[in-house]
Amino acid sequence: MPAGLIPGLHHVTSICGAPQENYDFYAGCLGQRLVKKTVNFDAPDTYHLYYGDEAGTPGTIMTFFPFTDAGPGRAGPGMASAVAWRLPKAAFDDWMLKLAEEAQDFEGPAERFGERFITLRDPDGAPVELIESDIDGDAPDGFHSVTLWERNPEPTARLLVDHFGFAQTGTETHGGVERLRFTAEGGGRGSVIDIVRSDAPGSGRNGTGTVHHVAFRAETDEVQAAWRERLSAAGFDVTPVIDRQYFNAIYFREPGGVLFEIATDPPGFAADEPAETMGRALMLPPRYEAMRDRIERMLPALRVPE
Ligand code: ZN
Repeated sequence: MPAGLIPGLHHVTSICGAPQENYDFYAGCLGQRLVKKTVNFDAPDTYHLYYGDEAGTPGTIMTFFPFTDAGPGRAGPGMASAVAWRLPKAAFDDWMLKLAEEAQDFEGPAERFGERFITLRDPDGAPVELIESDIDGDAPDGFHSVTLWERNPEPTARLLVDHFGFAQTGTETHGGVERLRFTAEGGGRGSVIDIVRSDAPGSGRNGTGTVHHVAFRAETDEVQAAWRERLSAAGFDVTPVIDRQYFNAIYFREPGGVLFEIATDPPGFAADEPAETMGRALMLPPRYEAMRDRIERMLPALRVPE
């Protein structure tokens, strides 16, 4: 099967501090469902929290590694600098009122590419953009876009256009900073990547409040295998397929330095527990089940109301 086109984002993974504050913001304030409570498969003494829509649909999944010892990070060139959710146009004004009533600070509304948006800060200071979108509903529903910060956007643009099949759909300049917009065919959930061009001196620093990696969708394992072949042939250093329990993953660095992943839609988040109760129990991959008691003792408390 040929690699075809990338339909959009699968998930975004960031580093956060205290898991309870992270839960209270993403589940409480933003109204996302915790669809999986598990551990970092490479460091099982820390959580890996997955938020999304009710079903845990690819394109709605925001995940966090609560690395409480990491210290605060700072976005910079070669990093993703903002994550944006789609907010139904009809709910936009109500949400500004709701946030004001909850004493939740936000900036805006401002406008980009003809769409109004507001910017919140999560408990670790990461920008969370809510962008008005032509969708139904009354709450944020899946990703609108991710913004990448690049000194030189052109090589990244070529990856998005020549390989992923995105089209460059606009350029705007705000406050002297150029923003290039790329959109996947179909234009659905998570189909937009913005690149801001900035050669500001200094560099970013990984830590709490920064994006760790950006994952794009492959509908099947066969499509992912074709992407692995194609990207390797184009000179990218792509990892072997890694089993992440809820999807299979391959990783590579895009030319500007952001860690990209291509993740499969199957098997999804109901692979190891019933869809109705996803997110309540601590789920462990089989290889860590024997260590469950020790892992549960090491993890900080996390209250998840039923
Ligand atoms: Zn990932």
